[in-house]
Amino acid sequence: MLLRPVSRRSFLKTASATTAAVYVARSVPAWAASDRGSVAIQTPLNIFAYSEVELFDSPLKRQFDENHARFLNLDDDRLLKVFRQVAGLPAPGEDMGGWYDLTGFSLERNDFHGFIAGHTFGQHVSALSRAYAVTGSEPTRAKINRLVKGYSETLDPKAKFFVDYRLPAYTYDKLSCGLIDAHEFAHDPMAMDVHEKLTHAITAYLPEKALSRLEQRARPHKDTSYTWDETYTLPENLFLAYQRSGKPFYRDMAKQYLEDDFYFGPLSQGNNVLPFEHAYSHVNAFSSAMQAYITLGSQMHLQAAKNGFEMLVKTQSFATGGWGPDESFGEPGRGQLGDSLALTHASFETPCGSYGHFKITRYLLRVTKDAQYGDSMERVLYNTILGAWPIQADGTSFYYSDYATTGKKVWYGQKWPCCSGTFPQVAADYHISTYLRSADGVYVNLFTPSRVQWNDGSSRYGLKQETKYPFDNKIQIQVSGSQPKEYAIYVRIPAWASPEPVLSVNGQRVSEQVQPGSFAAIRRTWKDGDRIELELPMPLRLEPVDANHPNLVALLRGPLVLFAVADSQPSFDKNSLLQAKATNNATGDWIAQSVEGSSVSMRPFMKIDKESYSTYVLLKA
Ligand SMILES: [Zn+2]
Repeated sequence: MLLRPVSRRSFLKTASATTAAVYVARSVPAWAASDRGSVAIQTPLNIFAYSEVELFDSPLKRQFDENHARFLNLDDDRLLKVFRQVAGLPAPGEDMGGWYDLTGFSLERNDFHGFIAGHTFGQHVSALSRAYAVTGSEPTRAKINRLVKGYSETLDPKAKFFVDYRLPAYTYDKLSCGLIDAHEFAHDPMAMDVHEKLTHAITAYLPEKALSRLEQRARPHKDTSYTWDETYTLPENLFLAYQRSGKPFYRDMAKQYLEDDFYFGPLSQGNNVLPFEHAYSHVNAFSSAMQAYITLGSQMHLQAAKNGFEMLVKTQSFATGGWGPDESFGEPGRGQLGDSLALTHASFETPCGSYGHFKITRYLLRVTKDAQYGDSMERVLYNTILGAWPIQADGTSFYYSDYATTGKKVWYGQKWPCCSGTFPQVAADYHISTYLRSADGVYVNLFTPSRVQWNDGSSRYGLKQETKYPFDNKIQIQVSGSQPKEYAIYVRIPAWASPEPVLSVNGQRVSEQVQPGSFAAIRRTWKDGDRIELELPMPLRLEPVDANHPNLVALLRGPLVLFAVADSQPSFDKNSLLQAKATNNATGDWIAQSVEGSSVSMRPFMKIDKESYSTYVLLKA
């Protein structure tokens, strides 16, 4: 989040269980197991447990491993230092630096050192907890226990840490997430007690409801002239806390912070109120609407999330799936996306935006079973976050993707920004985004080398994917099972995969129901060793940046945007761009002939390092 200084189970039997109940099988404290919060809606699809999905060697696996190692190796004392300092406890260890420290922030000097002390602590605990759920790593579990205990020692009944704190809701939301995940995924014995104590205390620092931008402007903070706090993102984690603990005060507090008047209400009626809102946090708020639907059964909030997401995709998104130049939404129909290419290098807040995008697409997929949400998720995956540089040991981080006319990857100027909190979370979530489960089977959502395995009674079943997708168009899925069983395997057929995707089982083509933009269902009695093969056509295609700039186009192949590697924006005639030729080089380049007569390398974002590029090129008639 940027503060702009000037302007601005046995799956067939338990598939109907709630997400929360998916994890009930492990040992939980008696109070939690006996008193879990109810939910109103059983979503048609549910996530698998993190431990049920294994990623094999791939860019996804590498990002997960890098992030897990980075935060496992980050010194506990450094992470706890600011909380200990404020509590007056011995605070050994070096300062974290950057946004994380206690002092330094000055709007006048445009200095964001010490912007939001301790803000990512909860996200690091969350990411480690999810990583523990994936790996079962004992050092990871031990670290989570130390961090939760260390944090609890700094927490007094009034949460004095938040006195005069710039963004209490912002940091509370992340602590809430971390403590819920420590409880849920790492079985931390203290986490929910600490969560409850913190939540009771934080209310003294929060407004009485989620504040709209207008209301924020009316409430000055001594450092920033008005409040920038993101109260409207709170309900998602509060509803989850209710589901985990069964304590109704969490549910009631969640309802209190639903921003219905100025956001969800108008969105649910189809009014596009996105323009001028802060991009990431308002996409993240869609997940609060989804939890209001799941927990309370509120159709209005489901409609708000669906409409809001559709407006995001149709009016605010680049070909990469990224959105929100300068972290803001613009007015539809004014050509603001195309204009932004000449105005800013801060085109998409990549790790945070991806994290929010993965969450909302996963929620909408679970509720609607609509393949468009999987398509949207993979667009963001391959064209944004997988091309983000890894977080460095000192907190140096990748923040914005740059879609400017001539762009470059750069490090963000401050250490430990918001994006260092969300990056390890989204990388852990690759596991739960790849497959989903339904009452009658399994959905294959992302194509990446991986395996999902589940138990059904005393039997064990699984699917194993092998593929070089998206650099290759073939996906193989091998079925395993300790005995034959009838169920359905649903395979996402992306909307761009025309004219003729080919799906086969054991070498026999499946002809019915293979429609681009849907999940193809294959129902049969599956036996150990059965094979599914999918071959997706990946024609080259062009997408203009917006309707006002029809000659500024991105070249796409399958889910990949191909960026023109050049020091200045090249021009093409349409046919020569669409006749770009594949090479076999290490960066997966395609080569297109520009009107200037040069051969231009067209390269996926994940393969770009320091070279200059143009996301959009100019079409000459
Ligand atoms: Zn961020």
